[in-house]
Amino acid sequence: MHVERIWPGTRLRNYHYLIVCRETGDALAVDPWDAALVLETANRNGWNIRQILNTHHHHDHIGGNEAVRNATGARVLAHAGAASLIGGVDQGLTQGDVIRVGRTVELECLDTPGHTMSHVCLLAHAEQPALFSGDTFFNAGAGNCHNGGDPEALYETFASKLSRLPDHTQVHAGHDYMLNNLGFTLDREPDNAVAAGLRQLLADRTAEQMPVTTLAEERQFNTFLRLQNPRIIAGLRERFPDLPEHPTPREVFICLRSLRNNW
Ligand SMILES: [Zn+2]
Ligand SMILES: [Zn+2]
Repeated sequence: MHVERIWPGTRLRNYHYLIVCRETGDALAVDPWDAALVLETANRNGWNIRQILNTHHHHDHIGGNEAVRNATGARVLAHAGAASLIGGVDQGLTQGDVIRVGRTVELECLDTPGHTMSHVCLLAHAEQPALFSGDTFFNAGAGNCHNGGDPEALYETFASKLSRLPDHTQVHAGHDYMLNNLGFTLDREPDNAVAAGLRQLLADRTAEQMPVTTLAEERQFNTFLRLQNPRIIAGLRERFPDLPEHPTPREVFICLRSLRNNW
């Protein structure tokens, strides 16, 4: 499997991805918005886009569907619950469905509600597993719930699915928000040396130069995976006086998500 991360330079800092079978050159385009750039990237490399996958229905994730489909004849895949919102979907996906790209790539669909209630993440089963997390899970952060989402559902998705993936899983998110998210981490955990070092290291990098993190790394600096951290809990109790001394991970997550909304 080859993963091509594409940076279209949108105001919303989107990443697009091409997931490519190295043997056949068949490719799946994840959340294409800038269709011209996605097509140009595939053409330049001799890849054939056979499928388009939308993680969810927001416009910046589906806006290029029609142009990519017209140019390539690709089939459009999306969460079954989002198909009517997206339009033109050839295959509705549910938890556990497997998408094949060429001969060598297998992608498992994870039903991951929270950012929207019909959101899929893709998990590539390879020597190094890879997660395509859309707007559910960001590098050093979590998706918002402003446009049709629900923080409780987002917590469930993190607790029951994403946080359980193997440490060496690579995280390919739908946007580059990493530096900003590290700022939030340090706001909650000023003594997190890993987050501080990383923010310094990445300060001058462009989105194209941002690293691909692993879940093991995320566990060190992603606040939404550090729900038992005493410093985080102490800080939250100053802001949320009703939070018990020993809150559940769910309570911590909900408070963090709420705080992040206005941070
Ligand atoms: Zn979104
Ligand atoms: Zn988005």
